[in-house]
Amino acid sequence: MSSWSCPHDLDGVCQRVRGAVCEPGMRGCELEGKVRFARETMNQPRKPVRAAPPARKATAAPKRKLPF
Ligand code: SF4
Repeated sequence: MSSWSCPHDLDGVCQRVRGAVCEPGMRGCELEGKVRFARETMNQPRKPVRAAPPARKATAAPKRKLPF
């Protein structure tokens, strides 16, 4: 058994097809046309799907004032 990790995957977002959700084998993917998946639906041509923008963390104001 082996495993593989794509170097273009960053937190589920593809860096090769910029801003798309990682869907191995989709159009523009490193694996497109190179591999055959066990699940037949994965072998069909698929369009990239835009990933949701990352949620921004709200910066809360400090609870007390600093002396400087
Ligand atoms: S879509 Fe393909 S190239 Fe992009 S991160 Fe996923 S496996 Fe890698």
